[in-house]
Amino acid sequence: MYRTHTCGELRISNASQTVTLAGWVQTVRKFGSITFVDLRDRYGITQLLFGEELTGQLAENPLGREYVLQATGTTQERSNKNPQLPTGDIELNVTSFKILNKSVTPPFTIQDDTDGGDDLRMKYRFLDLRRNAVKRNLEIRYAVNRSARNYLHENNFMDIETPFLIKSTPEGARDFVVPSRMNPGQFYALPQSPQTFKQLLMVSGYDRYYQIVKCFRDEDLRADRQPEFTQIDCEMCFVEQEDILNTFEGLIKRIFKDVKGIDYTEKVERMSWEEAMWTFGNDKPDIRFGMKITNFKFPAHTFPARENKEALIAGANFPVFDKAETVVAIAVPGCSEYTRKQTDELTDWVKRPQIGMQGLVFIKCNADGTFKSSVDKFYDEAHLKDIATACNANPGDLILILAGAEERTRKALSELRLEMGKKLGLRKETEFKLLWVLDFPLFEYDAEDNRWVARHHPFTSPKPDQIATMIDNDPVIRDAAKYLEHPYANIKANAYDMVLNGNEIGGGSIRIFQRDLQEKMFAALGMTEEESLHKFGFLLGAFEYGAPPHGGIAFGFDRLCALLGGSESIRDFIAFPKNNSGRDVMLDAPATIDAKQLTELQIKTDVK
Ligand code: ASP
Repeated sequence: MYRTHTCGELRISNASQTVTLAGWVQTVRKFGSITFVDLRDRYGITQLLFGEELTGQLAENPLGREYVLQATGTTQERSNKNPQLPTGDIELNVTSFKILNKSVTPPFTIQDDTDGGDDLRMKYRFLDLRRNAVKRNLEIRYAVNRSARNYLHENNFMDIETPFLIKSTPEGARDFVVPSRMNPGQFYALPQSPQTFKQLLMVSGYDRYYQIVKCFRDEDLRADRQPEFTQIDCEMCFVEQEDILNTFEGLIKRIFKDVKGIDYTEKVERMSWEEAMWTFGNDKPDIRFGMKITNFKFPAHTFPARENKEALIAGANFPVFDKAETVVAIAVPGCSEYTRKQTDELTDWVKRPQIGMQGLVFIKCNADGTFKSSVDKFYDEAHLKDIATACNANPGDLILILAGAEERTRKALSELRLEMGKKLGLRKETEFKLLWVLDFPLFEYDAEDNRWVARHHPFTSPKPDQIATMIDNDPVIRDAAKYLEHPYANIKANAYDMVLNGNEIGGGSIRIFQRDLQEKMFAALGMTEEESLHKFGFLLGAFEYGAPPHGGIAFGFDRLCALLGGSESIRDFIAFPKNNSGRDVMLDAPATIDAKQLTELQIKTDVK
């Protein structure tokens, strides 16, 4: 037997017992003739005491960091207790020990505060995984996994595996492809998601499916994306949107409870996509705090236009506002006393290339009811007061206004709002706020090809009362400049996203389940009949054999774990992640393959 206990297990109640531990040497400290060793395993750290009688043996078998050690001895109370450690009241007075394996000196210290940089830790990920911080993250991941499985199982969902070597599924990214040796010149695609399979399972009658499954998307990796990632993928039949929202609201609440001990009893808030865009400037608002956007000016087509407040800013001959397509503002609570330096910093912040604005207008709503602004030359006190009232600003607030082209300006203000929320400590890691965003547009305009693309994916159904609009209208956009006037621009989808603290954690839709409507959708997306049959003939065919109404959702499992673990980075929650260039630096993959393999696959490459 290698061990009787783990390194995290012994307490004062175990005093005087003879035990054997096995683990890794974290530190060795010598005090005269006595040696202390911290022995670590997955469960914790226990202090070992090597007395004078073992000096000779230790000299013959010196211990080093990360050596694998087995030690037998008696548990005793420590004279110098360590309240930081659960095992801190005791130590093991070693009577015999054995080095089970040696270790070369690790390239970084394997402690909570490591000296290893990111790259080094990725290269030696198996060592990084020994660190507490990483282990804790994987434990959270496993807890989320277990909780999800329990909930789904209790609710009659069945875990069904779907294949990885398949044909393209359209989730909007490029496919990773795998050459087929037995079918020269032909390739499988790795699934971007199990989307079509889960729909086929509904046709087969497995009315509640789930899978915690890898998905593969060959995208340019923006910060914190992984080419392979994990989804909690679900599908149900004989359901409407409301059933899905309730079922999966339940799933996330259960995960909160099991993993964080949080009783999220309130109903998850709901907001239309339009409302999200109007009041928060993006489709995944962080609603832990207010600071809602006031829309002074915007182009007529903006998400079916609303009443604007342009009169309040017009007529002052302020060219920036007069020329701008969009003028939008937020009132930041309690910041009217910002110094010149602070407002300059904010101006620099919005001028950074990532934000891309020309400048920032501010109005200080002083506590005494007066106003001071960066546009005093153009707007008198009464004017400023009206603007402040329109922004629902209170005395003491700082109004920040951006002006420019619609899309960029709205996005910039949404970023600025988040930044101010962060500055003011309103985005607390310990607070969790869920939101359903509903009623997304069905289509998005692709300016490059002057055509429609599916905003979610092509299997998403339109709102029932807009099916006729889709069927009765020709998808072709005759005048690119007026694409917003095309009836398709206003069709809303039966689609929903779940948002947690400003992050999209899941998304799905009620699907199309009739062959003719699905064919119309493919045509609307610019596919010829031949193409749609080639790509999705199997699904269209299946829809003719009694396809039930169905819908589903998929959650980004890695992201959910990261958010519950209080981190922004999904990488930290994946045992063996890739870096930002999609490389596994530990394996050094991707890599070239040898000529023999290429010949077998009948693939020629020019890359040397
Ligand atoms: N397959 C979709 C996705 O990966 C989710 C869904 O519609 O269920 O985003």
